Amino acid sequence: MHPYANREAVLTSKHQKLRLIDSSFRQTVGLEIIEVALDTDQFGTFSGEIERTLAPLEAAVAKARMGINETGIPIGIASEGSIGPDPLIPFLTSDIEHIVLVDEESGIQISEVYRSFDIVAARIRCVPNQDLTDFLQRADFPHHQLIVKTEGYFSPLAVKGISDLDELYAAVQKCFLESEAGSVVIESDLRANRSPSRAQNIVQAGQLLSKRLGQLCPHCRTPGWGRVDYERGALCGSCSGYLETAIRAEINGCVQCDFREVGRAILTRVEPAQCPWCNP
Ligand SMILES: [Zn+2]
Ligand SMILES: [Zn+2]
Repeated sequence: MHPYANREAVLTSKHQKLRLIDSSFRQTVGLEIIEVALDTDQFGTFSGEIERTLAPLEAAVAKARMGINETGIPIGIASEGSIGPDPLIPFLTSDIEHIVLVDEESGIQISEVYRSFDIVAARIRCVPNQDLTDFLQRADFPHHQLIVKTEGYFSPLAVKGISDLDELYAAVQKCFLESEAGSVVIESDLRANRSPSRAQNIVQAGQLLSKRLGQLCPHCRTPGWGRVDYERGALCGSCSGYLETAIRAEINGCVQCDFREVGRAILTRVEPAQCPWCNP
């Protein structure tokens, strides 16, 4: 039986993420998750009133600990999304979802990350009575909800969770009157319960984590066995030159003990096209 079967975990979420992740955890490891709605805005908000100061994974861990402290349940789960220019392909917008399980009893932390380019994140600067037809289409409104805010660095006025056209125009009018810049900003509301495309990415992240929890360490049976590093170094298929940095295989490891094992092979020989001697 899985160590987490019939155990309880607490999900810290202000924006109803439970329905997005609970079935995969129940099915994979038998973990029952309850949700506690705590104010996690102190770790940063998408709309920018509060800037995030922790790295995403640290923020997720801090949220999970909040739920543990609040409920006394020793297993906590939380997630943290970063939506913006992709770190590797900056001209594309990506959604990077970190999700973590913190187990205070065993002193372990198991995390996964899911990166997706399927995210609706639109933004426009506008004035009242401007034609918004193209923007609203791009923003997939009202399927995806919107935020209207004044521009400016210091505590902008923001109207969130807009899902109706009259509400949108009224918010533009209201923020415009308060705006020093003479324009307002409309942007996608990226909170999990307002953005169906983000919600789907959280579903995927939850599936990755529950799958990882399902893998037990072959040595100590702690959940969370999986890739922790890569094994490097491979020969070129043409000139037999040795490439130190080429990733040859995955290395699996345990979050509790030091046991490690070579996992899935990634390549046996380096392609000549990737070889600095064959293709300088
Ligand atoms: Zn070569
Ligand atoms: Zn182990």
